[in-house]
Amino acid sequence: MVTHLTEEISPSVWYGWGDPARAKPLGPGALEFLRSTLGLASVAPVHPPVDLAEVRVGPASLRETVLAELRAITGAEHVAIDATERILHAGGKSTPDLLRRRAGDALDAPDAVIFPGTAEEVREILAVCVERKLAVVTFGGGTSVVGGVEPLRGGFDGIITLDMRRMNRLLHLDPLSRTASFEAGIRGPAIEAALAPHGLTLGHFPQSHQEATLGGYVATRSSGQSSTGYGRSDELVKSAHLETPMGPFDAGSLAPGTAAGPKLLDVVVGSEGTLGVITSATLKVSPAPAEKVYGAWSFPSFAAGTEALRQLRHHGVRGDMPHVCRLSDTDETASTFKLGGWKTGALSRYLSVRGQKTPTLALFVWEGPAPQIRARRRRSARILRRAGGVPLGSLPGKSWEHGRFSGPYLRDELLTRGVYVETLETAATWSRLEETYRTVRQSILDALGEHGAAAFVQTHISHVYPDGASLYFTFLSGLEKDGLAQNARVKDAASRAIVAAGATITHHHAVGVDHAPYLNAEIGDLGITILTSIKNALDPEGIMNPGKLIPKQPSVPTTHPTTLADTKERP
Ligand SMILES: Cc1cc2nc3c(=O)[nH]c(=O)nc-3n(C[C@H](O)[C@H](O)[C@H](O)COP(=O)(O)OP(=O)(O)OC[C@H]3O[C@@H](n4cnc5c(N)ncnc54)[C@H](O)[C@@H]3O)c2cc1C
Repeated sequence: MVTHLTEEISPSVWYGWGDPARAKPLGPGALEFLRSTLGLASVAPVHPPVDLAEVRVGPASLRETVLAELRAITGAEHVAIDATERILHAGGKSTPDLLRRRAGDALDAPDAVIFPGTAEEVREILAVCVERKLAVVTFGGGTSVVGGVEPLRGGFDGIITLDMRRMNRLLHLDPLSRTASFEAGIRGPAIEAALAPHGLTLGHFPQSHQEATLGGYVATRSSGQSSTGYGRSDELVKSAHLETPMGPFDAGSLAPGTAAGPKLLDVVVGSEGTLGVITSATLKVSPAPAEKVYGAWSFPSFAAGTEALRQLRHHGVRGDMPHVCRLSDTDETASTFKLGGWKTGALSRYLSVRGQKTPTLALFVWEGPAPQIRARRRRSARILRRAGGVPLGSLPGKSWEHGRFSGPYLRDELLTRGVYVETLETAATWSRLEETYRTVRQSILDALGEHGAAAFVQTHISHVYPDGASLYFTFLSGLEKDGLAQNARVKDAASRAIVAAGATITHHHAVGVDHAPYLNAEIGDLGITILTSIKNALDPEGIMNPGKLIPKQPSVPTTHPTTLADTKERP
């Protein structure tokens, strides 16, 4: 079965997120919170992006003969060299990406943007790129926040970006085995729209869901908001088709289990466009939930809430874990109510909780058949109460779900108001989580405050595993004159703190350009050698996404444990 989907792609603005018409402006309370917390004289909207016509783009350097070869493959209408398409593909959606484009800098834009329609076209395009010495960036939704789609030329004569949006079909559905095969350019909402008539869901909802693609999920090992329940993208994927400069490669197996040697699928998953182009993939799907029940709990401190999540994971009946499981620290709990504009009913109920002056808020969503999930919520409630939690009803969880995809719009307004904001994430074992939280948070505060500025850091846990959890930091300060230097300073300080804490350099944002200098600390020098060898086997000319994933210059010494003694938990 092949289903064609006419997917409506939301307009992704060149300077920010999604469709600006959907953005809700900040209210007076939120503005006052920002002004006073960050000690800013004004948060007036006086830093808007330049007009699109003012954005500077470097000259497109592809020769007419090369363009003719590319047009012959896809059809001329699918090869773009106009300034607007090039600007739209000049990078991803990290804060430095947006700062550059808002200031009118798209000088690094690719020479051409190609929209392939089939795996065969991709194969032919790669052959031209090898022959003509062109770098290739594969572009899914372009939502990378680690420089994953930055058009780095890597010393090549030119650079093209392959935008996968035309490859957006459901290729095959096996409802009995609960698997579905899609082309890689299909976006989050279209995946769900294709599965819904069959009563199925992928259950993968990153905050970037409306823009991000299946190929992007697989290439970055993304994690969705319900991944505690449904699993991360790397757990959902069963097989993938990769077009490489050395030819096509089918990785993975549809068999439910296999012992056929090392799992080569794991070479493709997380490869971030550096080995080839994922053109399709088969993933596990689940029955769409008949119902959802919500829970919100307050804890006296982040540490108490964290311990409650651990107990829920360790002492709960297997399968009782909520699909969505989030815990905000006290700062995030406070700012959620101030910046998020949550309903007053929920706010007063929350504030009236006795004896918890600076509480932390935990939100849960259980999904499944109604009687089952109510029983799961009841059993979980017993553990949460014993761990010191106070129940707050279902309203905060519903409010969170209602606004969960609108957060990214906030960043555009904050930048316009001269407020620097960025996020980063990691994960650590339960035994190292508290130290990781404390030291990374402090490193961000110190780096932001280096020149005496006030700063605000808020943190949450959003993914819970048997052996630990993720940590997601959002940080704000006044935007310095050189916002790119400000960003680089904070990211480096936090990355060093993450490495020192023995946590992972990325839980779900992937490596890209930003984390590459710290990867050696995690996978070791030999790990880097193995990655390089795999790249040399599939992409010997090195045209695929230069400058991503594999570090050129490590920033930190390798601390990867090499003996069992090195792996011992710290006291
Ligand atoms: C506001 C916002 C919220 C986010 N929330 C989350 C979140 O909740 N969870 C999460 O995990 N991430 C999140 N991200 C990060 C990002 O959305 C994910 O990394 C996502 O998986 C990227 O998908 P994409 O299609 O946009 O890929 P792109 O950004 O286009 O590409 C990302 C990387 O994958 C490669 N790539 C893309 N498609 C292919 C392909 N077909 N074949 C080979 N390589 C490919 C690219 O070359 C690049 O290296 C968020 C980002 C933003 C801006």
